[in-house]
Amino acid sequence: MAALAQSVLVTGSNRGIGLELVRQLAASPQAPQHIFATCREPDGPSGKALRELAAQHPSIKLVQLDTVSLPSIQGAVQAVESHLKGQGLNLLINNAGVSSHATLQSVDSQEMLAAFTTNVIGPLQVTKEFLPLLEKAAKGLGKEGLSCSRAAIINVSTKVGSIGLCLGVLEAPMYPYRASKAAQNMMTRCMAAELKDKGILCTAIHPGWVKTDMGTEKAPLTVEHSVRGILTVLASLSQDTTDAFLDWKGNSVPW
Ligand code: NDP
Repeated sequence: MAALAQSVLVTGSNRGIGLELVRQLAASPQAPQHIFATCREPDGPSGKALRELAAQHPSIKLVQLDTVSLPSIQGAVQAVESHLKGQGLNLLINNAGVSSHATLQSVDSQEMLAAFTTNVIGPLQVTKEFLPLLEKAAKGLGKEGLSCSRAAIINVSTKVGSIGLCLGVLEAPMYPYRASKAAQNMMTRCMAAELKDKGILCTAIHPGWVKTDMGTEKAPLTVEHSVRGILTVLASLSQDTTDAFLDWKGNSVPW
């Protein structure tokens, strides 16, 4: 089986789904040549598990990236560019996110803004700054159609951000989280429409309800299982599934 992509960047990869994405990518028999594992504090205590993983796999490059800080994003672009030595970046996975369980009664503007800053502005600015590297990858020799091996942006979304489904609002209102992920979904659709002709695929993925700090121990899915599914779905993406919202099993989710 061919590598999913020669170069992959994952945001928020020091724990949860992001860490497992890096772990499974690095362990795969056809591992990408460059796995840019990014997080806010690669040298701090929260980066320990990622540093230990990187020590076992030369393909993993740790890069500082706070998705809500433009100077940090621009520094990450420079670091990635220097590793790629003239090649483009094939696959950008916008995974970093924050949750919020605020209800109509408890929500305030600060909590709303915090969710939008990380879940909407973060992936928007990261994508904008890495776009030249994605465009470079899309123009690579012999690349046709749309795929993660050519050039792709994957935005990690959630079923509870689906306006079409509007799942379980009474049990879990989560106003800031739901609204920010719905906005992220619109961004995915805009990018998919705009970047298709440039050879860049753009898809939203719901990872399932996963046992992580965010998903909690109550979640039914292990992070290993979810990420195995996500990576299988990513390998199958094409021009038919750009502008799609899929879950970790490849099922379509209503926007
Ligand atoms: P976790 O809370 O376990 O991890 C979140 C990750 O995002 C951490 O690495 C965190 O870094 C990072 N992060 C948050 N803000 C920033 C920032 N400004 N810059 C860089 N990194 C940041 O969450 P999950 O792994 O569960 O979630 C990953 C994605 O999956 C999210 O987008 C989430 O919305 C989505 N999702 C998760 C579900 C679940 O059940 N777990 C269900 C549906 C969707 P730090 O350690 O520095 O805080």
